[in-house]
Amino acid sequence: MDQNTKNYVESFMANIIANNPGEKEFHQAVREVVESVAPYIEAYPYLKELKVLERIAEPERVIMFRVPWVDDKGEIQINKGYRIQMNSALGPYKGGLRFHPSVNLSILKFLAFEQVFKNSLTTLPMGGGKGGSNFNPKGKSDNEVMRFCQSFMTELQRHIGQDTDVPAGDIGVGGREIGYMFGQYKRLRDEFTGTLTGKGLAWGGSLMRPEATGYGACYFAQEMLATRGKSYEGQTVCISGSGNVAQYAAEKATALGAKVLTLSDSNGFIYDPDGIDQSKIEYVKRLKNVIRGRIKEYVKEYPNAKYFPDERPWSIPCDIAMPCATQNEVNEEEARLLVKNGCYCVTEGANMPCEPAAIAVFHEAKILYSPGKASNAGGVATSGIEMSQNSIRQKWTAEEVDAQLHRIMKDIHAACVKYGTEEDGYVNYVKGANIAGFIKVANAMVDQGVV
Ligand code: NDP
Repeated sequence: MDQNTKNYVESFMANIIANNPGEKEFHQAVREVVESVAPYIEAYPYLKELKVLERIAEPERVIMFRVPWVDDKGEIQINKGYRIQMNSALGPYKGGLRFHPSVNLSILKFLAFEQVFKNSLTTLPMGGGKGGSNFNPKGKSDNEVMRFCQSFMTELQRHIGQDTDVPAGDIGVGGREIGYMFGQYKRLRDEFTGTLTGKGLAWGGSLMRPEATGYGACYFAQEMLATRGKSYEGQTVCISGSGNVAQYAAEKATALGAKVLTLSDSNGFIYDPDGIDQSKIEYVKRLKNVIRGRIKEYVKEYPNAKYFPDERPWSIPCDIAMPCATQNEVNEEEARLLVKNGCYCVTEGANMPCEPAAIAVFHEAKILYSPGKASNAGGVATSGIEMSQNSIRQKWTAEEVDAQLHRIMKDIHAACVKYGTEEDGYVNYVKGANIAGFIKVANAMVDQGVV
């Protein structure tokens, strides 16, 4: 990057920080994109004149609201509700809802910002958004979760719609929560539309949507591995998380011949030297999705495995690492350890799980590394496919949806290679994903005028 471009990046970021004080995750996500696209913007001065990047970094609309509800003891609880409608240049706002105590404006703005580029990469007509609440579903009864979801949707429903904004799940929002929110939306609006995705199969959901993010991440990694003549066959894989993305990443990696060694949750990780095969993955699905237990219970069922409380899985030697839990869960030291132990491919299933210093380590070591906005785009892509099915009131087979998902992940990989290949042939997937995602949104914004 030349000095002019560096100055542009720094003055851009100084403005972002001054105008969005304290929002450190948002600053982190914006900086990563700005560093990638700044040279492109310098080459096309009209983008600078039209302040396209400044506009992309400002949400079109931020909705914040009170979510009051009554718990099982009859006590009134109050949570914060949010929806960030970030960018609608390519289509209706699209992006998940996160229910987690850590949720705040900064985290949702970073996720909404990332979503804009991710959705652009999918090639489907979707803008970017994100929302959620600081509500913690852990330890709540089904009735409490239902009452919270109903109260949350009572306000959110006036801001969303099948042609306006189509939310989906994310951390803490799975089939149960989408069901309760869809029920309340339908009741209040008196319409049965595809306004939420991740719906149940009997009422508008798409086959393969639950699998899509984890499977898609593996399809993306397959493409990366192929550039080095490798595949999942016979490789060891460390996965973090044990929720939706982690479960299906483990399932697909195993089906492709890899041995998955670890899974985790926010209390610690389990290491199973025998590999977490399909029957063990079925156990984890039951444990996390039905019993709603903790990952440490795995070692009671499979005594050969070991539980490491308050640790993350990156100290276990592996060929491939797939962070699938949350943001900033791989730091510089852990990145160095991964590389030192022979890991040569890091594929993000979560959003922004690797800190900037960790990404620098991967780039320096020239290992394969894909950012979430490219490798976890299979989830939202399949949400887009669910929207198409809802619009034409048809249902496609699992094979049809999987084939579309596979094609989209291959196309995203090709776009990253096109825009991210450096002079020495190394593919910088961060640069590739950011530039490819940016170009389409930027051009659409130029076409649509100053709005
Ligand atoms: P789930 O709620 O199903 O699972 C989240 C997993 O991550 C759980 O194991 C959870 O553990 C763990 N986790 C959550 N927060 C933390 C934390 N602060 N520290 C350590 N572990 C944590 O969510 P998903 O699997 O849907 O989402 C995982 C990631 O993937 C997120 O970054 C999400 O944004 C991203 N993503 C999800 C998509 C989807 O389709 N679902 C699509 C694209 C990206 P615990 O049980 O202890 O909370």
